[in-house]
Amino acid sequence: MVSIVIQTSFLGDMVLTTPLIAALAERGPVDVVATPASAGLLANNPSVRAVILYDKRRASRGVRGFGRVLHELRKRRADAIYLAQGSVRSAALAFAAGVHRRVGFRTSAGRPLYSQTVPYRRDLHHAARLWQLATPERDPAPGEIRPRLYPGAAERAAVDGLLGPAHDPRPLVALAPGSVWATKRWPYYKELARAAAADARLAVLGSADDRALAEEILAASSHGGVNAAGRLSLLASAELIGRAALLVTNDSAPQHLASAMDTPTVAIFGPTVPEFGFGPLAPHSIVVGHAALDCRPCDRHGPPACPLGHWKCMRELTADDVSARVRHLLSTPTPHP
Ligand code: SF4
Repeated sequence: MVSIVIQTSFLGDMVLTTPLIAALAERGPVDVVATPASAGLLANNPSVRAVILYDKRRASRGVRGFGRVLHELRKRRADAIYLAQGSVRSAALAFAAGVHRRVGFRTSAGRPLYSQTVPYRRDLHHAARLWQLATPERDPAPGEIRPRLYPGAAERAAVDGLLGPAHDPRPLVALAPGSVWATKRWPYYKELARAAAADARLAVLGSADDRALAEEILAASSHGGVNAAGRLSLLASAELIGRAALLVTNDSAPQHLASAMDTPTVAIFGPTVPEFGFGPLAPHSIVVGHAALDCRPCDRHGPPACPLGHWKCMRELTADDVSARVRHLLSTPTPHP
């Protein structure tokens, strides 16, 4: 059975789609429709036969772009298409491709064009919801929804080059201070770096836009560290996270990279909550969030600015709060190297 998975959402969503892809690969070849930004996350993945690029905002915009991707889909003669992303445009692609079995969530905008809908279970992790597109008749076991990424030689070499010779006996702690949504960026990474630097070697991850912030964080630590922001691909970032003793991150894509690499995670949630289905899946992970705020959560993604103006969900999570969790995890024996 040939399957196609359409996943053109955010980077973290692609990571959380890998358990669905792995489950489908047990039934036959799987091709994945992905954005250029997330396609690299599927490199070396043994469950993926091919990646079909869908550059919604550039090369694949408009009717001609739609037609090009449609041509690619038709060539596959797939038995089923799984809509891991629920837009009308993706549903129209699946419908126009002439694939009889088109499976997506009952809540998706594109559902009139599906041949089969599956409940969007709000009580499950999103990786489990996606996995159920292929197996709606039962809940997954924890091991079945662990995301997986496969950094290769190029990613290992890139991280080797960045970290240099491994003389430092301190555990490597990765920090990911960025997020697309401003209200999800915890504001005290500098203070955390100052507190943690004596006991840990720090590496700050992020996009090129995070480079200046990463520099400030490392400068505050007084012990320096590695500024990896903008210098690694996503898969190489996963490789670096995989080498770390733990990751401290906001509710953003690096959290899901850590889930895929089994790296214990301190995940800081402000306006969002893990109950939305996007919490860490790596063993020995801890969620930090403000438990005493009536206004929380206020938005599924995190609003551009705090609607109440005080942003207490993040401002009142202190560096001491997070630092205590970091020390706890570093002193907890884990099977992680
Ligand atoms: S309304 Fe509450 S949860 Fe939302 S951003 Fe403001 S403080 Fe955070």
